[in-house]
Amino acid sequence: MPRLYPIEKTRNIGIIAHIDAGKTTTTERILYYTGMSHKIGEVHEGTTVTDWMPQERERGITITAAAVTCFWTQSYKKQAETVEERIKGEYKINIIDTPGHVDFTAEVERSLRVLDGAIVVFDGVQGVEAQSETVWHQADKYKVPRLCFINKLDRMGASFEDSLKSIHNRLTKNAVPVTIPIGIQENFKGVIDLIRMKAVYFEGEKGEILKIEDIPNDLKDYANEYRNYMLEKLAESDEEFMDKYFANNFNEEDIRKAIRRACINYTFIPVYAGSALKNKGIQLILDGVVDFLPSPVDLPPVKGWDPKTNAEIYRQPNDNEPFCALAFKIAVDPFVGTLTYIRVYSGIIKRGDTVLNTRTNETFRAGRIVRMHANHREEIEELFAGDIGAIVGVKDLKTGDTICDPKNPIVLESIQFAEPVIWMKIEPKTKQDQEKMGIYLKALSDEDPTFKIKVDQETGETLIGGMGELHLEIMVDRLRREFKVETNVGTPQVAYRETITKSVEAEGKYIRQSGGRGQYGHVVIRVEPLERDKGFEFVNAIKGGVIPDNFIPAVEKGIREAMEKGVIAGYPVRDIRVILFDGSFHEVDSSDLAFKIAAEIAFKEAVKKANPIFLEPIMKLEVIVPSEFLGDVTGDLASRRAKIEEVEDMGEMKKILAKVPLSEMFGYVTVLRSLTQGRGFSYMEFSHYQEVPQYLFESIINNRQKVKK
Ligand code: GDP
Repeated sequence: MPRLYPIEKTRNIGIIAHIDAGKTTTTERILYYTGMSHKIGEVHEGTTVTDWMPQERERGITITAAAVTCFWTQSYKKQAETVEERIKGEYKINIIDTPGHVDFTAEVERSLRVLDGAIVVFDGVQGVEAQSETVWHQADKYKVPRLCFINKLDRMGASFEDSLKSIHNRLTKNAVPVTIPIGIQENFKGVIDLIRMKAVYFEGEKGEILKIEDIPNDLKDYANEYRNYMLEKLAESDEEFMDKYFANNFNEEDIRKAIRRACINYTFIPVYAGSALKNKGIQLILDGVVDFLPSPVDLPPVKGWDPKTNAEIYRQPNDNEPFCALAFKIAVDPFVGTLTYIRVYSGIIKRGDTVLNTRTNETFRAGRIVRMHANHREEIEELFAGDIGAIVGVKDLKTGDTICDPKNPIVLESIQFAEPVIWMKIEPKTKQDQEKMGIYLKALSDEDPTFKIKVDQETGETLIGGMGELHLEIMVDRLRREFKVETNVGTPQVAYRETITKSVEAEGKYIRQSGGRGQYGHVVIRVEPLERDKGFEFVNAIKGGVIPDNFIPAVEKGIREAMEKGVIAGYPVRDIRVILFDGSFHEVDSSDLAFKIAAEIAFKEAVKKANPIFLEPIMKLEVIVPSEFLGDVTGDLASRRAKIEEVEDMGEMKKILAKVPLSEMFGYVTVLRSLTQGRGFSYMEFSHYQEVPQYLFESIINNRQKVKK
C-alpha cells in the first residue's frame, strides 16, 4: 500500500515535564481532540484490532504504549467533510512516551533520541522546576526543537508572567509567547492567539468547540505589547522575516513560516498558555506541533557506522534508502507479548521482511507490525521512513539496537548513559533467593541502563550502582514488590574517581628470562590530564615499529584494566589521555600478556607521579522550605560543603538552589524533615564530577581501606 501520509506531514514528538506538571492530562486532551477530528469515515493504513479487555479499553492504550499515533488538521483551517479531504489536510503525529520520574532520566534520554520535537509542559504556579531544567538540557544535547506550554493557569497562585520569567532566567531567552491568557487563576477564560490577533474561547463539555472572537477592548494594549514582542523577537531570529517586518508587509502565513524556521533553528521557542484540566488552549498547541515542529525531513540525515569497516555512513529520511531503524523501547503487552518499538530512519520495513540486528549480527523475521492508537491497536503492512511502530514477538532485541537491511548493515549512534555515582552492597535475606535476585537484578538493569550490577572481585559480594540514593531505593523496592525478593543492603558508597593533574612520562617493563620461553614487554608512555567527563583517550604514537602493531591492543587493554582497578584508592581513573610513544620488543619472548603487564606497571607509575586527585559526584539540589526555616536549612547546607546558588521567593515558601557533594547528603531527607517540622522537601539529582578538596584526600583513602576490610 502506498503512503497515506507523506513524510513531510509526519511529526514525532514527546511531551516532557517535571512530574505533576500535567503531562498525562495534556496527553489525554490531545488524544481526545485528535480522535474527534479524525472521526469522519474510519480509514486506516491497516486493520484495526479491538480485542481489548474491557478495563483496558476503558483506560485506553496510552498507559502501556511507548508511542501513540494520532492525526490533526490545524484548527484555523477549514475542517474536512469527506474522507478524502480529511486525509489531505491531516498530519500524522506520533507521541513518544517520556517518563516523568526523577530518577529515570536515562529513559528520558533514550526517548529524546528518537523524537524530532517536543512539548515541554510547565506548572504555571511552580514555573521551571529542577527536573524540567535537566530535561531541557538533555533536549539541548539532542538538539530537539520544542514548544513550551505553561499549564495550570487556572490554579490559585498561577502566573503566566512569572513562569515565563523563570523560563527566561533558567532555560532560555528565546522563549516567546504566541498565545497569552485571558484572565488568570479562577478567572482564566481563554487565550489570545497572537498570530491571528483573536481571542479564543473553548466551549462544549471538553472545550472541543473553539469560539473565535475579537480581542476585548480592555485587553488590546496587553495583546499588542505581546504581539510586538513576538514580532520583534521573530525579526531578530529570522532574516527573511526581518525584511518583511521592516517593510511592514507580512501576513499570518509569513509569521507562521518564520516561526517554523526559527523554531527548528532553536532561535525562537513558541510559548503557549493554557490549562489542560480546564480544557483550554490545547488545540492551539496541536496547531503549533504541526506548524512549527520539524518533520523527519527537516532534520539532518541520521549518522551511523558500517559495522565492518567502522566508516561513517549517513542515511537520508527517504523510503528509497536501505532500511534502518532504532529499537527504543521493549515492552511487554498483556495481549500481544513482547513489543519492540522502533523508529524508522530510512527505507521501509514490510511485514514478513527479514532484517538484521547489527549488535548480534543475526537476522530475524518481522512477522507482525503494529501501531498503537488512543484506543485501538492496528496491524499494519509496513512502516515507512520517519515513522514509528512496533514489531511483535521478537526476542533478543535490546533497547538501543539497530535493525536494518541485511545487505546494507549500519550501526546507529548508540545511546550514551551516565555511569553510576553510588554503589551499595546487596544480598538476599534467604540464601535460596540468591539466584532469583541475580536474574531480576539483571532484568532491571536491562530496562534501565543507568542501573548497574557488579561483583566485588575481592569479597565476592554483589553491588548495585545507580544515579542516587533514591534510585537504588526504588530498585530495591521493585525487587521486593514485583519480584518478591527480600534483600539486605549496605550503606551507600560514593563512586569517587581518580584522576591526574599534570603530564608525566613513565616506563613499564615486564621481562622474565629464566629457562624455557621468557616474557618480554616494554612500554614508555606519557599521561596527560583531560577535561572533566572526557573519560579516556588512548593515542598510539609508536614510530618505526619499536613495538609491533599486533601488540598495541594488548597495551591498551592493560591500561584500561588498570584504570578500572584504580591506583590511589581503588577508584576508577578517568579524564586521562595515555600516549604510548616508545618501548621495545623481543622476537621470541614478547607476548600480549607481557605487554599488557608492562602497560599496567607503566600506568600505575605514571598516575602516582602525576599529582593524582579524587573527583566526587556533585548533586544539583533543590530545597523548598517555609520562609521561617530558611536560616536553619541554609546553615545546615553550608556545613555540608554546599554552594548555594540562588534563593527564590515563592510566596510563603523559599526555594533554595544549590550544588552539593553527594557524600555529604546521605539521609538528608530525614534531617530536612526534622529541621522544618516536616514541612520542607527536597529534590536532588546528579550534576557533575568535581575535584575533592585536598584536606579530604587522606580520609577518602582511609575510608576506602575500612570498607575493604
Ligand atoms: P503528570 O505527572 O505530569 O503526568 O501530571 P498529571 O497530568 O497527572 O497532573 C498532575 C495533577 O495536576 C493532577 O491532579 C491533575 O489533575 C492536575 N492538573 C493537570 N493539569 C491541570 C490544570 O491545567 N489545572 C489544574 N488546576 N490542575 C491540573
